[in-house]
Amino acid sequence: MTALTHKRKPACRAALIVHIVTAMIGSGPLRAEPIGENLVVRHDFFRGTGEDLTGNGRDARIGLGAVQLPRFVWLGGEYEKDSRVSFASAGRDGRTLERTIAVRGGDATIEIWFEGVELEHGDYLLFDGRGHRPGEPERARGCILRLEVPVGRADVGMALFDRQGREHDIVNGGTPVSTISTFDKEGRLNINRLRQYVYVLDGNQPDGNGKWSMYIDGAPVGIAPAVYRTSVDLNVFTLGPGQAQYTIAGRQSDRYNQASPRGRLYRMLIYDRALGADEVASNRQTGLAAITGADAKPVAHEVASAPPDAEALVLVDEGRPHAVIAIAAHRPRAVEEAAAALHNTIFRMTGVRLPIVEQTQVDLSAPVRPAVLLVGPSPLTDRLGIDVVQNRDHEHDHYVIRTGDRWVALVGNDDLNLRGSAYAVYDLLQRLGCGWFGQDEAWHVIPRVRKLVVPPMNVDERAAFRFRSLSAPIRAQCVRDAWRIGGRAYAIDHALDHLVPRREHLEAHPDWFGPGQPCMTHPDVVDLIASKFCMRIDRTPGNQILSLCLMVNDNANFCRCDRCAKLGNHGELMLHFANEVARRLAATHAGRYQITNLAYWATFDLGPDSTSRAEPGVSVQTLHQGNRAKPIEHESNAAVRAAMYNWSRTGAEMAVYDWWIPGFKHSAHWRKVPWYPGETTLRDYRFWKKHGVRYVFHESNREAGDGLPIRWPLWYVGARGLWNPDVRAETVMSEACNKLFASAAPHMLGFYALLEKAMADTDQTASVWNLPPPHLVYTTPIQARAGALLSAAADASDDPRVLARIEDERKMWKGATEVMAAMRAAEEKKTKDTSEQLEDAAGM
Ligand SMILES: [Zn+2]
Repeated sequence: MTALTHKRKPACRAALIVHIVTAMIGSGPLRAEPIGENLVVRHDFFRGTGEDLTGNGRDARIGLGAVQLPRFVWLGGEYEKDSRVSFASAGRDGRTLERTIAVRGGDATIEIWFEGVELEHGDYLLFDGRGHRPGEPERARGCILRLEVPVGRADVGMALFDRQGREHDIVNGGTPVSTISTFDKEGRLNINRLRQYVYVLDGNQPDGNGKWSMYIDGAPVGIAPAVYRTSVDLNVFTLGPGQAQYTIAGRQSDRYNQASPRGRLYRMLIYDRALGADEVASNRQTGLAAITGADAKPVAHEVASAPPDAEALVLVDEGRPHAVIAIAAHRPRAVEEAAAALHNTIFRMTGVRLPIVEQTQVDLSAPVRPAVLLVGPSPLTDRLGIDVVQNRDHEHDHYVIRTGDRWVALVGNDDLNLRGSAYAVYDLLQRLGCGWFGQDEAWHVIPRVRKLVVPPMNVDERAAFRFRSLSAPIRAQCVRDAWRIGGRAYAIDHALDHLVPRREHLEAHPDWFGPGQPCMTHPDVVDLIASKFCMRIDRTPGNQILSLCLMVNDNANFCRCDRCAKLGNHGELMLHFANEVARRLAATHAGRYQITNLAYWATFDLGPDSTSRAEPGVSVQTLHQGNRAKPIEHESNAAVRAAMYNWSRTGAEMAVYDWWIPGFKHSAHWRKVPWYPGETTLRDYRFWKKHGVRYVFHESNREAGDGLPIRWPLWYVGARGLWNPDVRAETVMSEACNKLFASAAPHMLGFYALLEKAMADTDQTASVWNLPPPHLVYTTPIQARAGALLSAAADASDDPRVLARIEDERKMWKGATEVMAAMRAAEEKKTKDTSEQLEDAAGM
């Protein structure tokens, strides 16, 4: 190894800080791994250590909240003017991962293994390719999901996406450039992918300057001249000699060079020489094997994006509290529950109890005071400019997490039954490494830490769907809040028998009733229901909108009197009925109601040429009763799509009722077999959202126990998708498995991916009431592979908590395989019996 000489102190003293949001740190055995000579820095963060494995002593300090690396590494021999390469932190924020200053006569290689994740939305600066000071910076609000620059000299591009994921702009020097690929072959945005980035500097070029070569995943992607400059302020992962800059990922704020990308840093190597292409490729192989190998400890070094000049906030350090939790004097119960959850979880993480105080006791202007966690909306958060409108009916589920001068605000829309502030609290805890994946505490992940730090944050979240209901069995509030279940409830019931009781009215008014439903065109029936609804609205204080259920009784025996019959099919009849009720209410209670209806079975569709329109306030919940093995866009679900289109074009507010584990109460075997159509579910959500659905209710009734842990992957992915359907199942599961299974995560991810693929690949139809035999979905080879993955997972961990979870899943899978083995045996016996009968018959 080359010993380095430091002859000059760097001008910039800011330490390099990479925020770790989750720090599940362990240590694994190191494998001998040839990664070359002249290696001057090597950090294998994925093993949970910041040790400099070269022995040169440039250990990174690692802990919850930050990785600090040595300030400067001088490369290319001894430092002389105009002949140097340095690798260091830069920027006033001290969070910039690298900066290179080049170059005359020096050689160097920098290799970084990084997995980018979606950046938070915000203001992003579009910059040009000739340096970092464009005269008129353009701006756009959006997410930089991925940027890669496989282009030549002076070309720098970035793709911007808005919150809906639409591509916003790709620019080069303010001018759109042709194409920068932002999607992989499957059309997925290419994030959450572990990549090797290598920058090789060859400083000895004939013109006296240098040459940078860049590689991604072992393959060369670009070459740029390296022109000496005294100072280059570049953003994270920017390679910046002279005229050409390659930005790999980074967020720009108003001021340059002051924000970091989010992602996971796995490994960093720095060489004091230029690696050849073959060595880069070879490092790619050895790096992949080490990082994804069985002895790796996948440590999530999440790099948080940060506002300028903000400092990470210490809540707890070495057993001492450095913060208080503050709530408003007047607060809803949900805020008290959220503050209590924050208090209790921090206690479990650190052993320290942060006091809960009223905000009147807090003086944010005091020069010396503890950090303050402000939970819930209050006059104080108003003064801080945190504007979350408190309204259930006309605003979304919405929350923000914002940090400022020694405060963290966790504020959401808490109007009526909404729980925005609780969502903010759980979001923060999840970013600090916690996770809730079932009701059983064994499936909660609460990391133990000595120091608890909140990095600078500016989170602003809104739900895609206004009502996000999973199945009845999940009652634990911590799980419901962590999964953001809830929202503006949607009335669901077979209601007509309660509204027009047959026993009460049949004798006096036989003409009010068909065989199984009330007559829906009888003016007295409409009046009776409207008057009941008006009374309910009158009894409800304030101006809130009531969800009033007009859903039909659960039978197909509709009134077929002349008036009813001439309206067409049952769907048309139901819509007419709802409209009549709505018109009665509109006269006296306009804007105070939502009338819910159920389009399913007998009322599944409207007439084929329907031009019917829904009155304001009329809402329809359609039931997904198609093929659940395939997404709704699949040809086998054409009828489901048609019904949804027809209902949506009436202008009715749309909802979906979903049998999630389809009809399983009629197919006992699936109760013991996992059902995980992760991405299929999210594709359906995207479809629904696009077609105006705002309320989603999942039916999973008669689940064995609370349905966990057998159902957790589907439910967790579903819950996350109901908040934001643009997430990918794989992303959600990676986050979950890293927390739940740590070193065994790759095997467990493989297990769930195998189940998901089996369901996606099956040619069996899974209709709501007629499920395929599970052993035809999970074939014998798939079962064997699943068992092997579970065994490998158990071998990959020695953490008793992780092993207990894996054991839960192994027991679950054992039960499933027994069910499937019995079904297979019964099938074989039946085949044998049939053939014997045939033989007997032939012998007669
Ligand atoms: Zn009738």
